Amino acid sequence: MREAGRARGGDGGTPEGPPGKPRERLVIAIDGPVGAGKSTMARRLARALGIVHIDSGAMYRAMGWKAMQAGVELSDHAALASLAERTEIRVIPGDPSFCLLVDGEDVTGRLRTPAVDRAASLVSTCPAVRERLVALQRAMAREGGVVMDGRDIGTVVFPHADLKFFLEADLEVRAARRWQDLQRAGAGLGVAEVREEVARRDARDSGREMSPLRAAEDALRIDTTGVAPDEVLARMLAAVERCAENSKR
Ligand code: C5P
Repeated sequence: MREAGRARGGDGGTPEGPPGKPRERLVIAIDGPVGAGKSTMARRLARALGIVHIDSGAMYRAMGWKAMQAGVELSDHAALASLAERTEIRVIPGDPSFCLLVDGEDVTGRLRTPAVDRAASLVSTCPAVRERLVALQRAMAREGGVVMDGRDIGTVVFPHADLKFFLEADLEVRAARRWQDLQRAGAGLGVAEVREEVARRDARDSGREMSPLRAAEDALRIDTTGVAPDEVLARMLAAVERCAENSKR
């Protein structure tokens, strides 16, 4: 396994990359609550840097989906552990969308429903599920640089990431974003209902025992409330440049 920390230490850079740090080796963590803009910004940042984006939430969603399909009780950690052990999850990175295979079946289009939102949040409290997915996430970064978004990327998956961001936004704004996503996916939920579910999911993600959602101490916090994605991207790219400068010293 390549540890993110080993990616540090400038070696001259590439003609395209920031000096002192080749872009293709940057490991960038983006964490935050539901609807803070993590996936959108992770995708845009990865594209701008020419590196891979991995949405770790999709992996928890895939496990949640699998548990529902298998009829496993979502609070039964022993059953979830055994399911996680025999389920093969593969992420094939891509832009604009990755492809997620569960036991060889492409489930990418089935992961963004209210039922899967809830299932993902419940199965993610199971330590064995987390261990399995964290191992996969680390293995995926072995190949080279990555922008990975989730809840515990800067704290647990890559504690030595080159750069860490923690995105946040007001609950109202986050609920409205999630509502829009769900509308696009054809789920006819009201804004109030979505707001409640977002708040419930955040509370579960922040309150769980293993790898709770929290900002790493060295994360750069960005409040995306009322800030256009272009502006958020500009701040992130400025941080990448600063990181490159520091690695030269
Ligand atoms: O990011 P997204 O909303 O797709 O994540 C779905 C759920 O997966 C989250 O609510 C959280 O419970 C879980 N998750 C996690 N750790 C991650 C990413 C997602 O626990 N790194």
